[in-house]
Amino acid sequence: MRITCVGGGPAGLYFAVLAKLADPARDVTVLERNPAGVTYGWGVVFWDDLLDDLFRYDPVSAARIWDAAYKWDEYEVHAAGKPVSFLGGYGFSLGRHKLLEILGDRARELGVTIRYSDDLTDPDQLPAADLIVACDGAGSRIRDSAAEHFGAQVETGRNKYIWLGTPHVFRTFTFGFEETEAGWIWFHAYPFAAGASTFIVECTPETWSGLGLDRMDSAAGNARLQEIFKRHLDGHPLDDAGRGWLNFRRVTAERWDHGNVVLMGDAAHTTHFAIGSGTKLAMQDAMALADAVALLPAKSGNLSAALEQYEHRRKVALAPLQRAARASSAWFERMPEYADLPAKRFSYALSDRRGEYPAWRYLLHMSTQGAVPRTMLRWTLSARRWNRARRRPPRSLSAAVP
Ligand SMILES: Cc1cc2nc3c(=O)[nH]c(=O)nc-3n(C[C@H](O)[C@H](O)[C@H](O)COP(=O)(O)OP(=O)(O)OC[C@H]3O[C@@H](n4cnc5c(N)ncnc54)[C@H](O)[C@@H]3O)c2cc1C
Repeated sequence: MRITCVGGGPAGLYFAVLAKLADPARDVTVLERNPAGVTYGWGVVFWDDLLDDLFRYDPVSAARIWDAAYKWDEYEVHAAGKPVSFLGGYGFSLGRHKLLEILGDRARELGVTIRYSDDLTDPDQLPAADLIVACDGAGSRIRDSAAEHFGAQVETGRNKYIWLGTPHVFRTFTFGFEETEAGWIWFHAYPFAAGASTFIVECTPETWSGLGLDRMDSAAGNARLQEIFKRHLDGHPLDDAGRGWLNFRRVTAERWDHGNVVLMGDAAHTTHFAIGSGTKLAMQDAMALADAVALLPAKSGNLSAALEQYEHRRKVALAPLQRAARASSAWFERMPEYADLPAKRFSYALSDRRGEYPAWRYLLHMSTQGAVPRTMLRWTLSARRWNRARRRPPRSLSAAVP
């Protein structure tokens, strides 16, 4: 069987690894438009659930990811004018460069051919293969060339964001909110390597233009952000990976297959960074597709049935996370409405933003054990009521743009 993955991101490389592991006789190729070692973005976060899956599917790459991952163990919330609050929880982070290096090395060890600097410019000229996996990211050319067939929709989020990095090493996952003359602006930051943290800045479009960020070049914009967030950065600079300010693009597709072509990862669906799950979901897509393709011989080679099975499995798994991501991004769009809450209530509202956070259940349990004061439970429940009262459809998600 000949398999070609168009796109050497986490989805494409991990699927190539699994496809080769399942059957070393397969001819598996990954086409990646960037040169080796070049990618966008900084570190990404993930949690135990992804690690569990990775260890089940390929313990070798899982152990390398585990070794390279940075472990952090709580959330700090720094909102201007309020004392710092701390929220329970832990997780892991890893630079995108490192993740892709680990997956690329593993794929090559197993005999996958990776063709870097190979840009598939014409989606009508797909290479000859039994299965073509379109894992070419959120802006997928392959998906867009048959947008009607795939039922592809792109909705644009209201807030502006920029994905920056900094050599300042945050102690743990940190949210920081600052009030400026043009309104609130905030960051989501976490360490992901020795000497490096991700620093994603977000604000409403009114604040963005009010601060003049829409008119500044990258250097001036970064300098302005450094000034605004100086109390958090300890004198360290901010670094733009070159993508500049963006609006989040929420991609959905009604169907994921087209003949022998199948969508995977961000090409099929994107998930707002406010819940830090897009990489996990892309890699879990790869696992599900590998499982479906592994069943092909038993199903007399019915590729279409296998692809349908893959799509169904993933859509069921994705639905709750996509709801959480919408609720979470909508919370950040309404952030200024929460700004007057006292510190604890503000941070509990933040932690409950997904609309599914089981903090109150956990705290109820812990308070019955005498492990946390009952006031914490009261704050969490009141934050939950506050969020519920304000939860309404995100006003930002504009009309669908095909
Ligand atoms: C600000 C921000 C923060 C994020 N933080 C997190 C996080 O903390 N945790 C998390 O899990 N996720 C996070 N994500 C999401 C995550 O980055 C994506 O969901 C993930 O990268 C999707 O993987 P992918 O392989 O599907 O696509 P990509 O990683 O986008 O890979 C697609 C690849 O295809 C290549 N390509 C594109 N077109 C072509 C072509 N025509 N020919 C050849 N190659 C092509 C691209 O160069 C790219 O390498 C974040 C996203 C953003 C925007």
